[in-house]
Amino acid sequence: MGRTLVPERGRLWNQPAEDGKVFCPMRVPDRRSMWFRARTEAPLATFLWLDVVNRDITPYPGVLDRVRFDAMSVYVGRGVGGGSLVNGGMAVTPARAYFSKVLPQVDAAEMYDRYFPLAHRMLGVNTVAPDWFESTKWYRFARVSRTHAHRAGLRTTFVPGVYDFSYMRREEAREVIKSALAGEVIYGNNHGKRSLDRTYLAAALGTGEVTIETLHRVRAIRQEPDGGHVLTVDRTDETGRVIATREIGCRHLFLGAGSLGTTELLLRAREAGALPDLPVEVGLGWGTNGNVMTARANHVWDTTGECQSTIPVMAIDDSANPTTPVFAEIAPLPMGLEHWISLYLAITRNLERGSFAYDRATDAVKLRWTHDQNQPSNCGAQPTASEEVLSTALGGDWEFRGIRAPQRT
Ligand SMILES: Cc1cc2nc3c(=O)[nH]c(=O)nc-3n(C[C@H](O)[C@H](O)[C@H](O)COP(=O)(O)OP(=O)(O)OC[C@H]3O[C@@H](n4cnc5c(N)ncnc54)[C@H](O)[C@@H]3O)c2cc1C
Repeated sequence: MGRTLVPERGRLWNQPAEDGKVFCPMRVPDRRSMWFRARTEAPLATFLWLDVVNRDITPYPGVLDRVRFDAMSVYVGRGVGGGSLVNGGMAVTPARAYFSKVLPQVDAAEMYDRYFPLAHRMLGVNTVAPDWFESTKWYRFARVSRTHAHRAGLRTTFVPGVYDFSYMRREEAREVIKSALAGEVIYGNNHGKRSLDRTYLAAALGTGEVTIETLHRVRAIRQEPDGGHVLTVDRTDETGRVIATREIGCRHLFLGAGSLGTTELLLRAREAGALPDLPVEVGLGWGTNGNVMTARANHVWDTTGECQSTIPVMAIDDSANPTTPVFAEIAPLPMGLEHWISLYLAITRNLERGSFAYDRATDAVKLRWTHDQNQPSNCGAQPTASEEVLSTALGGDWEFRGIRAPQRT
């Protein structure tokens, strides 16, 4: 066993199922799609009028989870690779001035000179070729939204990503097996995407010094008198049943369980008395990244196309707007038919913060977040950043039917 152990509560996604694929298709999801659910809960279905995309499935440690709190749901990836398995692979580097403002305690020079370039190299960050973008039917939806944005006087920009765009071009040419062009993304990409299991984690395993234990959920942390830590880890089977519990000691402990998982472990340890000296700040200051998903219906003659790549490559960039900054990624809605809907994943400025509290009765954390706190991000009743910008972008002769769903990804 390697000298570094990584317990992961999800599966390793590398074995094909009966259909020959590791991940299931998005349009016909099966048990591989979601984390112990009897029915899929695709993000888009929560705000379309009809639930046309969800399916009944057998509970299983699938790849996408939706963690529900009272006024907020959080989508997370489960498995070796975490969110990188299910995400859109967009690799946006934040504006440096904004980064410094939000994270003043982090050395921006080191991030911009060293770590962002290093991560880009490791993840193979690339950008769609402009000539192909202009001609392919797979990005018609993005060109249509770009036209609308420019008409409203807004600028657009290409968004880099970790999906291999040369692979995508070969998908179109039918030279390779389709993934982004076959509707794959939120339940995993079988090809093309350089997720962490294929990049950083593969490199780590290649050293021979790292072992990843899957279906291992860390439940508790405590500290030994000599300064080392001990983890209580439940091993589960594919029905979710705990089949063994063991304790693992370590000299150095690094927590990388995501904002929910890490916060839960720390809060439980502090409140249960195992790590009583953890600072009071743990669990405070949680935000949504200002992310909102918004959509509108186009006029019937303005088609977005039945062929849509699942990987966004363009955004409306009004992030320099001093009062209502927004960076709205132009997102696909790949349903395999013409639906006349333009979709946006808009990053807005929302300074609202929530907090987590440990609930002893359920041994879980609760998120204190109210619906009102979504308001600065919503394109809703109040004129806000994204509403002003997007409804301007979609204004003129375009009908705005603001369908919206606040969510954190
Ligand atoms: C649908 C979707 C689309 C997204 N699109 C983009 C995008 O295009 N671009 C972008 O930059 N970001 C995107 N994101 C966000 C991005 O994926 C996340 O910000 C990122 O994955 C967070 O990384 P992390 O390592 O902090 O946590 P995670 O990726 O969540 O990794 C945490 C891991 O820890 C495991 N874990 C948690 N608790 C425990 C425990 N107690 N014991 C053992 N294991 C545990 C989890 O199963 C998981 O594998 C998207 C996210 C989603 C869900």
